[in-house]
Amino acid sequence: MDTPILGIHHVTAIVADPQENIDFYTGVLGLRLVKQTVNFDDPYTYHLYYGDELGRPGTIVTFFPWVGIRPGSRGTGLVSAMAFAVPAAALDYWAARLADHGVRASEPEIRFGEPVLSFYDPAGLLLEIVAQPGAEDRPAWQGGPVPAEYALCGPAGVTLTLQAAAPTATLLTERLGFRHSATAGNRTRYLISDGSIETAVDILARPDLPFGMPGSGSVHHIAWRVADAAGQLAWREHLTRHGLEVTPVRDRQYFHSIYFREPGGVLFEIATDQPGFATDEPPERLGQRLMLPPWLEARHREIEQQLPPIVTRSNN
Ligand code: ZN
Repeated sequence: MDTPILGIHHVTAIVADPQENIDFYTGVLGLRLVKQTVNFDDPYTYHLYYGDELGRPGTIVTFFPWVGIRPGSRGTGLVSAMAFAVPAAALDYWAARLADHGVRASEPEIRFGEPVLSFYDPAGLLLEIVAQPGAEDRPAWQGGPVPAEYALCGPAGVTLTLQAAAPTATLLTERLGFRHSATAGNRTRYLISDGSIETAVDILARPDLPFGMPGSGSVHHIAWRVADAAGQLAWREHLTRHGLEVTPVRDRQYFHSIYFREPGGVLFEIATDQPGFATDEPPERLGQRLMLPPWLEARHREIEQQLPPIVTRSNN
């Protein structure tokens, strides 16, 4: 493909409480809330985006806070963990910071040569912080409560827990451009690179587990990055030709999206780098008020009244 996949564009998860989500991802993890908008397919639900100062592709995690949704159940067919990268010297800081905020993290475990801290967000989503050489050169939000040298980068990788590894592994390596990196036990790592930053997808084969049920604390989908709309159309044609059912292009205001389900059951998206988040509000004011796309703007007051009130950090 002329327009390769460059890594993760964003990861989107489901939570039940928007305020708890904002407090944790900005106040504890130190990401920037870069956009308050709604789920365009369900406009009475927020869609909250976090990232670096501009929400650059590769730094974005997003949430649908469906108020009152039940917790998901762990199992197969799901993204079971999302990892952030930090410089090697930052791991002790994070162990202490999480403890200070009452978040119980595992002892660091060495995985494929890198120390990893694991913990759950308030909704029950499994997160990991991985010490990675070179993480200091990755984009990260420098203006939050975490000192710049320790700021989280990423999402740097995800773990897919699947009944069967082979069909998804084939899709990753033969269609999407990943390469096999290493295997340890039932975990196999695949990597993709944008030329400087590598993104890891781990497949954890668990034929012993039932299918998981999505709910609060579950990842909804992973979006892969492509540079532009023409490249995205080429991907749509390529994947369709190989038997995948791919949606038409959807306008997500800050990027364009196509979606398909990979054979293990996880929803994949391919999203464009352009136009980005600083298109409808200036970079210094990102995330401070509710922004709606033109086709919903006429309903701004009505939609805002239906949404639960939220408070963002004043220095966001
Ligand atoms: Zn998405």
